[in-house]
Amino acid sequence: MDFFKRTWAEIDLDHLAYNVNEIRKCLPKTTQMMGVVKADAYGHGDRYIAKEMENLGIKNFGVSNLEEALSLRKNGVESNILILGVTPVSAVKKLSEHHITQTVYSLEYAQQLNSAAKKENICIQCHMKLDTGMGRIGFRAGDDLSAIEEMVEACQLPNLNFTGIFSHFSSSDDIGEEGIAYTKGQKERFDKAVMALEKKGIHFDVKHLQNSAGVLNYRDCRYDMARVGVILYGLPLDTLPGCAISLKPVMSIRSAISMVKTVHAGDAISYSRRFTADKEMRLATVPIGYADGYLRAFANKGKMIVHGQYARVVGSVCMDQLMLDVTHIPDVQAGDIATVVGSDGDCQVTFGDLAQIAGTIHYELACLVSRRVPRVYQKGGKTVGIVDYIVEE
Ligand SMILES: *Cc1c(COP(=O)(O)O)cnc(C)c1O
Repeated sequence: MDFFKRTWAEIDLDHLAYNVNEIRKCLPKTTQMMGVVKADAYGHGDRYIAKEMENLGIKNFGVSNLEEALSLRKNGVESNILILGVTPVSAVKKLSEHHITQTVYSLEYAQQLNSAAKKENICIQCHMKLDTGMGRIGFRAGDDLSAIEEMVEACQLPNLNFTGIFSHFSSSDDIGEEGIAYTKGQKERFDKAVMALEKKGIHFDVKHLQNSAGVLNYRDCRYDMARVGVILYGLPLDTLPGCAISLKPVMSIRSAISMVKTVHAGDAISYSRRFTADKEMRLATVPIGYADGYLRAFANKGKMIVHGQYARVVGSVCMDQLMLDVTHIPDVQAGDIATVVGSDGDCQVTFGDLAQIAGTIHYELACLVSRRVPRVYQKGGKTVGIVDYIVEE
C-alpha cells in the first residue's frame, strides 16, 4: 500500500501549454490573452499555473480580489494583474505598492477610491467596467448613453489613471438564435460607449470584451485583449458550427482504493442505506468524499475508472469516503488507483460528465476541488512540484 496520498489532483502543465497554443490560433495577432486565474486558477492552483502561463508569454492576469492578486505577487508573478471585482478602498496602498490594476464600476466607487488614494498621495491604475447586459457590475451602458457623463466624471478624477475599459458577455456560450442576438447587442453597446467616450477625448490603451466563449464564438472581435479562463484549463464550451477547438483537460483526480470487500445480497451500504446489494458483489472503498469536492449528489450515480473500466458509486457519498462497485473488474486490490476525473485506458470521466449528474457546470466542480486535495504538477512526464495546502497551513 504505497501511493502518493489518499487522493490527489494531477495538473498537466503540458496540456495547459497545448491549450494556450490552440486558443492563440483563435485570436488576431494584435489581441493579447489575459489568463484568468481567479479562484486559485479554477481550482488548479494559481502559483504554478500563473508562472507557467508567464513562461508561455502571457503578460496579463485576471483575479477576483486583492488577496488573489497578492498571492500571485508573492509567488513571483510580475505581469499585469487586474482585479475583476471590488477592492475595499481602505486597501488602496496595497494596490499601488504591488502595481495592481483595479476595476472601477461606478461613479460612487470611483469617487471613494479616488479620495482614499488622494489621502495617501498615490495614483491607482484602473480599468473601467461597463455593464452592457450582464447586470452584475459596471457603469450602465444600455442603448441610451445616459451614463456617459458619469464615466467622463470618473475619468477626470485626479488620483485614478484609467488605462483600460471592458465589459463582460453573459451569454456568449449560448449558441441559440436569441443568445447570439443578445451577445451581438452587448458588443454593439460596448463599441458605442467606447466611441462616445473617444469623441469626448477620453482614450483607453486596452479595450477588452471577450471571455472564453466570446473568443471561440465571436472571432470577428478585434479588441486589444481577451480574458480567457475556463478553456485554458481544457474545460470545453458549447460552440457555433466551425468554432470548436481541440482542448486537453489539465486536471485529473485520482484516489487510492483503501479496502476491497465482498458483500452479500441484502447488505446495505453507506449512510441512510441508499444502496442494498441484490447479489454477491465486490465493493471498493475510495478515500474521497464531499469534503474533497466530490458531491453528495453523485450518490448511486457517479462513476470512476478502475483498471481501465468504469465502476459506479454505490450508496451515499460520505464526507471523506465512498464505495464503488467493482464486481465486474477482476483483481482489484487495496492500493489500486481509482480515476475520479481523467482518463485510464479507453475510459474517461470529465468534470462535464459529473456536472450533468449534479445539474451544474464544470466551472463549479473544478472550483470545488478542496484544499485537502494536494495538487501535483507534471511536465514532460515528470513531477515538477506539489502544492499541499493543508501541510502548509
Ligand atoms: C471569470 C471571468 C472571465 C473568464 O471567464 P471564462 O468563461 O472562464 O473564460 C472573464 N472576465 C470576467 C470579468 C470574469 O469574471
